Amino acid sequence: MSDVAAQIAAATAKGDVAALATLAIQLANENARLCALIERLEAEAERRREKETTRKRARRALAPDVTLWQRRDVLERDAYRCRRCGAITALHIDHVVPVAAGGLTEIDNLQTLCALCNWKKGARING
Ligand SMILES: [Zn+2]
Repeated sequence: MSDVAAQIAAATAKGDVAALATLAIQLANENARLCALIERLEAEAERRREKETTRKRARRALAPDVTLWQRRDVLERDAYRCRRCGAITALHIDHVVPVAAGGLTEIDNLQTLCALCNWKKGARING
């Protein structure tokens, strides 16, 4: 039994109405304090979510999807080979500096990687 529950049980057994009223007031105050704290935390979490969405939108505007023309130019520049291992199949267009790190969708920041090298690069950055 919690300390408060024990106090309530003791006050009830003694018929101590004043002690019960004091405990009720303490519990109400504690409840109000916790509710205010939860509201503050929820508001803070909501602010962070909005900030993150705004940041993602700004990033997306700077780094839109790779166009077909960019894809062709990067593949031609890289001679249709993975820049890491030279593979000629399962080629992906990769951001050298990841979009998440502020990399732009520009030819200079794009490279040809095979699926495996692309996966390994992602695993290294994320892991
Ligand atoms: Zn490769």
